[in-house]
Amino acid sequence: MTHSTGTLYIISAPSGAGKTSLVKALIDAQPQIRVSVSHTTRAMRPGEVDGVNYHFVDREEFVRMIEHGDFLEQAEVFGNLYGTSQSRLQQTLDEGHDLILEIDWQGAEQVRKLMPHARSIFILPPTQQALRQRLTNRGQDSDEIIEGRMREAVSEMSHYVEYDYVIINDDFATALEDLKAIFRANLLSQEHQQQRHTELLTQLLA
Ligand code: 5GP
Repeated sequence: MTHSTGTLYIISAPSGAGKTSLVKALIDAQPQIRVSVSHTTRAMRPGEVDGVNYHFVDREEFVRMIEHGDFLEQAEVFGNLYGTSQSRLQQTLDEGHDLILEIDWQGAEQVRKLMPHARSIFILPPTQQALRQRLTNRGQDSDEIIEGRMREAVSEMSHYVEYDYVIINDDFATALEDLKAIFRANLLSQEHQQQRHTELLTQLLA
């Protein structure tokens, strides 16, 4: 039995739509799926761990990495730089692992051009009100920042049309099942099944 190459997944959502929690629950259930850890120049939030949530670097280091060609994609979001490092990305896919990039629409646009087989998923909140509530519940930001993030969220959400799949995160468990279904269906694609069941197919067609 030969293993097939993993699929690259792009997952985007406005801040507060529950993307990080959904991805974490997916990985807890399916540990063979990997998540890429981005580099960012933004300040660490309470509870975040360097090398786990992000690789936290200063602007100088980030610019040096751009000049070095280290990033598959990079973008400025809320005045901070974010980027996906190329290192180990292809290796992870070649090892047969599906790999998730949690990036914004600008990064998604760049990745689609470079890796046309990537599948993209957009996660939406059930209502604007729910989104505002979730941004407020974090309790880490001022009203002004929350209003700014609401405007950014609406602008980010307008890009859902560029994505292959859309999940509405109203009920968490349902949204998680929807997310799992996308990954499962992809494993059943003819291309993947052919690679995974080469021997069986040879026998069946003998
Ligand atoms: P946060 O600072 O709240 O963790 O993330 C802010 C935004 O940056 C989110 O939309 C997130 O998806 C996006 N983001 C995180 N990492 C990357 C990355 O490596 N590249 C791009 N283009 N966007 C990213």
